[in-house]
Amino acid sequence: MISASDRIHSEFSPPRFTADHMVIRLGRYLRLAGYDVFWNRRLRTHELIALSNRDGRIFLTRNRRLSQEYPRPHHLLYVAPEHPVEQFRFVVRQLRLTTEYAFSRCVWCNLPLEAAPDPEQLRDRVPADVLDRKLPLQICPGCGRVYWKGSHVKNTVRRLGLLIPED
Ligand SMILES: [Zn+2]
Repeated sequence: MISASDRIHSEFSPPRFTADHMVIRLGRYLRLAGYDVFWNRRLRTHELIALSNRDGRIFLTRNRRLSQEYPRPHHLLYVAPEHPVEQFRFVVRQLRLTTEYAFSRCVWCNLPLEAAPDPEQLRDRVPADVLDRKLPLQICPGCGRVYWKGSHVKNTVRRLGLLIPED
């Protein structure tokens, strides 16, 4: 099933990323901002680079000597800041990323979220007050997690310096 966000994403083909083992928290934040980010703790760095090159992804790392130690990623961004929130802001600035698709992707599965078909069927997975307030619900086609724009979203948004998403 192709969601609306899929179509928008392919139209503008936003950059996709690979996060190495040092910048996985940054990877989570980029997923929160709607970006496709691949990581896998079980793969070794040269395997991550090979996958990144195959998929045309930008390889994110804090290893300054990466390209001396491993085959060179076709697209590489060295992430200077140490703190993950600062790293996120750095990448957004460096690549002039837009954050209008924030909260359109599952942070766990990296899949675009879909509109939840029938909120009533999610009663066991969503707090009653969220249903009562009729907040729009989105669901991950991979893990089935349900997302809504509650206070936790607003806090994350503030921390990362994103715009508050519209419903
Ligand atoms: Zn998921």
